[in-house]
Amino acid sequence: MAATPKVPFFDYPDVFCSDEEQLMEIFSDVGRRGAFIQQRDLKEFEGRLAEYIGAKYVLGIANATDALHLAFRAIGIGAKDEVIFCSHTMVATAAAVHFAGGTPVPVDCREDHLIDPDAVKRAITPRTKAIVPTQLNGRTADMDALQTIADEHGLEIIEDSAQALGSKFKGRCAGTFGKAGCISFYPAKTLGCLGDGGCVITNDDEMHRKLQMLRDHGRGEDGEVRMWGLNSRLDNLQAAILNRKLDSYDQAVTRRREVAAIYDQQLTGLSQLALPPAPDSHPSHFDIFQNYEIEAEHRNQLQAHLKSNGIGTLLPWGGKAVHQFRNLGFSQELPFTNRLFDRVLMLPLNTSLSDDDVLYVCGSIREFYAVERIADAA
Ligand SMILES: *Cc1c(COP(=O)(O)O)cnc(C)c1O
Repeated sequence: MAATPKVPFFDYPDVFCSDEEQLMEIFSDVGRRGAFIQQRDLKEFEGRLAEYIGAKYVLGIANATDALHLAFRAIGIGAKDEVIFCSHTMVATAAAVHFAGGTPVPVDCREDHLIDPDAVKRAITPRTKAIVPTQLNGRTADMDALQTIADEHGLEIIEDSAQALGSKFKGRCAGTFGKAGCISFYPAKTLGCLGDGGCVITNDDEMHRKLQMLRDHGRGEDGEVRMWGLNSRLDNLQAAILNRKLDSYDQAVTRRREVAAIYDQQLTGLSQLALPPAPDSHPSHFDIFQNYEIEAEHRNQLQAHLKSNGIGTLLPWGGKAVHQFRNLGFSQELPFTNRLFDRVLMLPLNTSLSDDDVLYVCGSIREFYAVERIADAA
């Protein structure tokens, strides 16, 4: 008999319920002003977020997939251009390249699950135009190594930092290294709104000018249409909600790092697991733990065991890396990533969890392997 869920992977109602009164006030305020599209709440949020990240510009976009798509269009990716990305990412990264007109080229990740700079080097051809590191699980890739490669070969970097708001490499925030970066405000992301939302980040005046028009029918601020554009604006109501949630974002990140530290401390002794780098385990990295992604022996049985104990877990991207979606036409063989995807599992990590919840998850994992060991010995 299945136990009642004790620790869901993510508590969606909590995005609203944890702050219901304040959110209802925002609805009334924005609604009474009729301030729905590109109003002062959006401008204010963009300005505050740019300051938070340490970037020159932030522009609210309908979602992070569109933010990437528009960034590729803005740098002029087109037919025959190849863009190298890490296959351990959401299909959205590749789709953004595809819809800009380019060819997405998947490569392997490294032990820390982020893009492997050596694999990037091997994938470069005369058609390569850009590299898209995915700043996965709230950790920023080795941007020094990637920038060196980009400079040597004259490539642009566009960052998929959808999962990495406030994550840093050598003190600099994800999203500010490349020509542009994106952040997602999907509800389960570290800064989540009540629906879809995203933004594009850039330090480049010309990129900013183009992206502003691309998100709004190709119109400049004077209303004149100067290029073909899309409709991909962040709703003003979502911006007002995000603006409020940004007030407590640092506390949310601190809590995420605390939960990661508990997992690390509790699970470190288990030889059947490989854990993500602990918070503060490397001086160059400040991780914000969008996810806690482990590698586990007997992964499927462990997931079933946790489920029977009422614990929700997820396989990243439903269990497949992007190059494994053969329907999309990929033919690359990425053995490291293939092996990884037989072992990866995401444990619950969010701000709705109590310390006891996390300890319960850890206890259930230890219990699973204790029984395994007895079975192996028999
Ligand atoms: C969530 C996510 C996206 C897509 O973000 P949306 O806002 O849902 O479009 C893209 N890339 C990565 C790595 C993500 O985690």
